[in-house]
Amino acid sequence: MFGKILIANRGEIACRVMKTARRMGIRTVAVYSDADRDALHVRMADEAVHVGPSPAAQSYIAIDRILDAVRKSGAEAVHPGYGFLSERAEFARALDDAGVVFIGPPVAAIEAMGDKITSKKLAAEAGVSTVPGFMGLIHDAEEAVRIARQIGHPVMIKASAGGGGKGMRIARSDAEVREGFQSSRNEAAASFGDDRIFIEKFIESPRHIEIQVLGDRHGNIIHLGERECSIQRRNQKVIEEAPSPFLDPETRAAMGAQAVALARAVGYHSAGTVEFIVDRDRNFYFLEMNTRLQVEHPVTELVTGLDLVELMIRVAAGEALPFGQEDVRLDGWAIECRLYAEDPYRNFLPSTGRLVRYRPPEEIRTPRAVIRNDTGVEEGGEISMFYDPMIAKLCSWGPDRAAAIAVMRGALDAFEVEGIGHNLPFCQVVMDHPRFVAGDLSTAFIAEEFPDGFAGVVPPPAVLADLARGAAVMRRAVVARERAISGRMAHHTAPAPDRWVVTLAGQAFTVDLGEEEPGGAVLTRSWPGNRPPTAEEAAAEPVHVAVDWLPGRSLARIALGGAGDGTRDYLVKVGLMTEGFRLRWRGADLAAMVRTPRAAELAALMPERTPPDTSRLLLCPMPGILVSIAVEAGQEVEEGQPLATVEAMKMENILRAERRGRVARINAAPGDSLAVDAVIMEFE
Ligand code: ADP
Ligand code: ADP
Ligand code: MG
Repeated sequence: MFGKILIANRGEIACRVMKTARRMGIRTVAVYSDADRDALHVRMADEAVHVGPSPAAQSYIAIDRILDAVRKSGAEAVHPGYGFLSERAEFARALDDAGVVFIGPPVAAIEAMGDKITSKKLAAEAGVSTVPGFMGLIHDAEEAVRIARQIGHPVMIKASAGGGGKGMRIARSDAEVREGFQSSRNEAAASFGDDRIFIEKFIESPRHIEIQVLGDRHGNIIHLGERECSIQRRNQKVIEEAPSPFLDPETRAAMGAQAVALARAVGYHSAGTVEFIVDRDRNFYFLEMNTRLQVEHPVTELVTGLDLVELMIRVAAGEALPFGQEDVRLDGWAIECRLYAEDPYRNFLPSTGRLVRYRPPEEIRTPRAVIRNDTGVEEGGEISMFYDPMIAKLCSWGPDRAAAIAVMRGALDAFEVEGIGHNLPFCQVVMDHPRFVAGDLSTAFIAEEFPDGFAGVVPPPAVLADLARGAAVMRRAVVARERAISGRMAHHTAPAPDRWVVTLAGQAFTVDLGEEEPGGAVLTRSWPGNRPPTAEEAAAEPVHVAVDWLPGRSLARIALGGAGDGTRDYLVKVGLMTEGFRLRWRGADLAAMVRTPRAAELAALMPERTPPDTSRLLLCPMPGILVSIAVEAGQEVEEGQPLATVEAMKMENILRAERRGRVARINAAPGDSLAVDAVIMEFE
């Protein structure tokens, strides 16, 4: 076994590889760029080598610099993680030449599978079912139109060198094929330096289901079942699970056999993934093979009990797989949510900044539940614009799918992230979505269920009523604390009132609080509106409310129970406001104002403070650098017309006109670095 390995990556995957290496007694070497001097993966490693400036091109993917670090550290092998150099045949070959082991597949397999046209041809030869289409190169738009007609609309236009969801266009007409061909080609040239394009049938609302394969250098190749990755936004995975709620044992076996056949055809060893799309009738079609460890590999680990990184390292060191296909058992259900620094309330634009608060849920491992969080960041850390916006992968396991979802809900509720925009509330809403819960998935799920983007949710009235009771109990605790601190000052010594009016999500509830019982629960009565109770409401059975919260804490557990109606339990994120709380729960973000009935009456008379009208402004949606302005003052613009380009987190974001109008003034110039909400231009 190796004595020392270098991990040519950063973030969560570098940390994840190091964890296993350490457990195996292998010393670890980290590499880092300027931006990552203080990063978690650097401190986790036994040694660390600085490899260059922040842009990945000058550090993490600069092959000569990584090779220098390997030499300097004396590492015997390199794990590339995913992304960066993981699928660069040139890198694997350079390591071979230097006598260093690449912890991954053979160079020839990377080469063959790195190209979508080549891999599709190889797959077809190996008896794998591929998406119907044309497996050759397409030279111009008219040829594309001709071929698309032969295949039949709609079609998918793809870059042969594509990856990460880039260089792909759906076309449903001749005009769209012409346009899509051109834009795919431009994007492919810019992103991959390779503008070769091919076309295949577009499968409507398919599922994305992929097979994990694993091979050794002795000719053994097996598969470890599937992962379903249908919850995607713009062809990028967001939530994954294993197994798939859609596969029956026969389809699983057929897909597994084809994946193994393909791996065998290219002399594969190490871990790899064969991606398929599956239509409604369970026809499955090969998409591509990823010749590396996959982002979502933890869900496979959770249902198989295997450590894929350990197996990769053992295979790289020449060991044979310690088990065969018949030994692979799938047990229970696992789900992964990718936590992205992308603001769902702002159309998922990348968000940068400091992680003011970062408190993942406690990791647990019991026979009934597992919570695992693969992370590469820490509280106080900076999310820079240089790298991928994924900051953590929260995984849950349970004996069945419903249990895995329940564990995930609890883990998301307890996960605190402040300081940057992130998609936690979105993941929470998906976990509660009836279609997700039913397992009725497709790659169009997000587009179909959130056609206008994500604006948060308003919980049902019964939940609002419960949260109102909790907020009243918390408010009394705050008032009691204030009174204790201000001592005898006359205007603070009035007794804490026991009737409160809570307004949240535009609704009011009156809450009467009783004495605190031994054990901390409070007996409450509540009714809608700001008014005295009816005789019936006054006589209603009181509800016990136990709130595990003290002023200053950011998480509250609110448990309610009354005679006969069971126990309801909410884990809520709490922020203090004057006269109330900001409560966040399951994708809802509520201002819960808690006042005396008189104060609530007065507040209701106050004019609503309307937010400033920003409809005539183009605001910068995230911190970044203004790359270019596409219009000038005085110009008429149409809805959807590009106005400006802002670069943030290695992505260029085109800001478009929300409606037609005329540009009045431009307030920023290319090269400016802009803060969130900086006014880039004004309209008449
Ligand atoms: P990448 O290399 O960017 O990952 P893939 O070929 O794996 O590209 O495709 C990414 C995603 O795009 C798939 O998961 C699927 O959602 C969608 N997709 C790709 N090809 C097709 C197709 N022919 N029909 C329908 N959806 C497709
Ligand atoms: P997978 O195919 O493993 O499910 P994705 O296709 O969503 O995962 O993302 C993998 C690709 O995304 C990588 O090949 C890379 O282009 C990019 N990527 C994702 N995360 C990172 C990261 N931490 N560092 C570099 N590249 C990344
Ligand atoms: Mg893919």
